Amino acid sequence: MKDLGIHEYMKWYPSKVGTYTSGKVYKTTTPLDLLRLDAIPLIDRIKLGLFAMRVKRIKEWKDLENQTADFWLRERLGGMAYEKVWAPLLKGKFGDFYDEIGMPWFWSKIQTRFASRQGIRQREMLGYPDGSFDTVFDKLQGSIESKGGEIHISTPVIKINVVDHIAKGIKAVAPDGKEFDMDFDCILSTVPSFSFPNLVDLPVEYRERLTSVHYLAAVVVILELSHALTDFYWMNIADADVPFLGLIEHTNMLPKEWYGGNNILYMTNYLDREDPVYSLSQEDLLDLYLPHLNKFNPKFERSWIKATHYNALSAAQPIIGTNYSKVIPDHRTPIERLYLANTTQVYPEDRGTNYSIKMGRRIVETILEDERQLWRNWK
Ligand SMILES: Cc1cc2nc3c(=O)[nH]c(=O)nc-3n(C[C@H](O)[C@H](O)[C@H](O)COP(=O)(O)OP(=O)(O)OC[C@H]3O[C@@H](n4cnc5c(N)ncnc54)[C@H](O)[C@@H]3O)c2cc1C
Repeated sequence: MKDLGIHEYMKWYPSKVGTYTSGKVYKTTTPLDLLRLDAIPLIDRIKLGLFAMRVKRIKEWKDLENQTADFWLRERLGGMAYEKVWAPLLKGKFGDFYDEIGMPWFWSKIQTRFASRQGIRQREMLGYPDGSFDTVFDKLQGSIESKGGEIHISTPVIKINVVDHIAKGIKAVAPDGKEFDMDFDCILSTVPSFSFPNLVDLPVEYRERLTSVHYLAAVVVILELSHALTDFYWMNIADADVPFLGLIEHTNMLPKEWYGGNNILYMTNYLDREDPVYSLSQEDLLDLYLPHLNKFNPKFERSWIKATHYNALSAAQPIIGTNYSKVIPDHRTPIERLYLANTTQVYPEDRGTNYSIKMGRRIVETILEDERQLWRNWK
């Protein structure tokens, strides 16, 4: 954001976190709150806090690579602290794949959660750009176009044209439905791993690295409400009976006046693309979800809903298993001048916009280095 001259748009807000478990909402904003989590015995609450500090102190995530988070946590934390808090969150986030997730994922979550805490009370601070990510994207678009670049949205690439193992250009479909070809000096693809082999023929070994990573889909429902549902910003749901994973009440962090006086509630859910919930219509999804909102506020009524927004994404969350550093696909593909950058290559951290930007910088360096090498060879 500094590069684009919009860093002053980035604002930091304290978050208020709750956890729904055993039929009750608990405040879990600060480490002290964990001590009051009476859904589990006091000894397990203490273990929970000490365990997080222990993971925080681990410097070398590679030592954890050959174990799943489920196994590691079961072995070293176990008991009610695991069963009532971490296991439901792992299952909620990764569904049937929860016991495949490599331990580095858990390690990186703990590192970022601690890093975002400030002050003696260790309250978490979250960053949000004024005007949302649109502020960044609009400025980026202006910057690219002012330098002569072009941006084509709603223009799917259907093929990467390759001649003699060198990427030469793309075939795409314009918004009016017409196919067209365009040539480039080099190509950086950011499509999901399972889509990439549909665009270009790849050697088996590289293709298998791509297709071996499974993605979870996301189902995103946003409600505009006349009343606040809770006073929490982020609600983790550690209860398998609730059919969504979390509630994010945006206007408990930002002023609701920015949203026409409405309370913005975002209901998040990650699931397998084969899960029937992924294919439900918006209406059926609401029928499934809404009765559960009374668990968070008994006064909630359907009449509070002023508008609903729905979106489903097929490549939301890659499932990263054990020993992933040995099979992570290289950004340099086996095709010369063709590069790949997507969320399966963010590791050991979990995907996030900041990591994608970091990856972008790294890839620019890689591409420039390859260009320099080509020039050296040519001379
Ligand atoms: C529900 C949800 C909430 C999130 N919340 C946050 C958050 O609060 N903060 C945060 O930092 N990160 C968040 N993330 C993560 C963040 O969105 C990703 O890390 C980031 O978008 C990854 O960027 P990307 O460019 O690699 O992929 P994407 O943003 O997914 O971009 C890939 C693009 O490629 C396009 N595409 C696919 N196939 C083709 C094709 N054939 N031709 C042309 N285009 C194609 C897709 O339409 C898409 O626009 C969230 C992710 C999800 C799913």
